[in-house]
This record gives sequence, C-alpha cells and structure tokens, in this order.
Amino acid sequence: SSFSDMNVREILIVNIQKARYKNPTPIQKYAVPILVDGRDIMACAQTGSGKTVAYLLPILDYILRKNCDSHAYETTVQPVALILAPTRELAVQIFYEAKKLVRGSILLCRVAYGGASSADQLKKMQVGCHLLVGTVGRLVDYMQRGFLCFSDIKFIVLDEADRMLDMGFLSEIKKIFGHSTMPPHGKRQMLMFSATFPAGVQNLAATFMDNYVFVVV
Ligand code: AMP
Repeated sequence: SSFSDMNVREILIVNIQKARYKNPTPIQKYAVPILVDGRDIMACAQTGSGKTVAYLLPILDYILRKNCDSHAYETTVQPVALILAPTRELAVQIFYEAKKLVRGSILLCRVAYGGASSADQLKKMQVGCHLLVGTVGRLVDYMQRGFLCFSDIKFIVLDEADRMLDMGFLSEIKKIFGHSTMPPHGKRQMLMFSATFPAGVQNLAATFMDNYVFVVV
C-alpha cells in the first residue's frame, strides 16, 4: 500500500511527497488505518520507525476533515490534539514534523516546553491552536494556571511512554489525563508509543485505554 491509498486529505499527501517520503514504513502502514478507524493504540515502535508521521497523519486528517475550530484569539487554549513528549528535543522534533505536514493548510500547530519563555509560547498558542505538542511540566503549569481547556480534545498521544515513566512523569501524566475538562474514554482516542513495554507502560495502557489495538513493529 502507498500513502495515496490511505484515504487522508490531498494536502497531506502533497506534503508527504514534498518531504520525499516515498513509501509508508511498517508502523505507518499498520497504524494509520487503525487510527482512521477510531481505535486506541499501543504501539511498540523505536525512534526511526516513522512513528511520528504514523500518528500525525490520522490526527491532522481528522482536524482538516471536521474543520475543527482553533479558538483563535481566546485566552484559554483549546486544542483538538495533545501530544506529550518526554523531552524538549523530542517535542520540537514532533512540532517540526507536524508543521511540515500542514503546510498550505489552515491548521495551527503549537509547541510548549520548559526552559524557554512561558509567556511567548502561550501567546502563540492563544493566537489559535489545533494541535499542541509539549513536555509535561510546561503543560501542567499552563493547565494549573487555567490556560488550557481539554473539552475539544479528540486525540491524546503519549510518545516514548517508557522514557516518560523512567523520567518520573507518571503523576504529571495522570494530572493531565485526569483534568476536569478532559473527555472520558470513548469521547477521545488515546495513542501510546513506546520502544519497550515494561509493567509501568502496560499499567498506563490498561488504565487509560479500552480495547486498544496492540501493534509491534
Ligand atoms: P520517527 O520514527 O518518527 O522519529 O521518524 C524517523 C525519521 O524518518 C524522521 O526523520 C522522519 O522525517 C522520517 N520518515 C518518516 N516517515 C518516512 C517515510 N515513510 N519514508 C522516509 N522517511 C520517513
């Protein structure tokens, strides 16, 4: 199968061609149809497998297809998709991949991480935000200050879940997933990606997902 068989918006296919991604990688072949189908997923996939594009494609396609609101120029940021990353480097990498895929569309992607101006990042998010990538510390900070509302969330991605747990982020992850505005199971899709599948990650998957599809590449 090829990218053009994936039944996602033409603009995404055009941007994939511009990025010179010729053929989908195995994780992209397996995960995209499962996600377009609305299922939760737990995928064991290494960095370099193409996992980022695998989850971004169905998410971006959904936002384009539903013509989701970006809540432009509102104080409270209300994303459709939330991607949690363990490090600033990974968050920025995911953000750039997302920007590459949405070029030429109206879709707004934002990034939030510690160690840089909190006010500047927030200001950009408040201009409008469909997809928000961030590290957990900075996101919890915005959340606790009342700048984030999750009632529009349709997708939550936990990237490098094993590393997040190794770094001690379990309680922050639970704070975000358990926020009063976060839609319950069934109202949003949860996607977990991890290089390994230790007990901690298994527990996280069991706690926050129902009937998820398990993919190993
Ligand atoms: P990831 O596993 O998401 O960290 O991706 C690893 C690298 O592969 C990134 O630099 C992507 O830009 C690139 N990539 C993703 N999908 C493809 C593809 N289908 N063909 C070639 N390169 C890709």
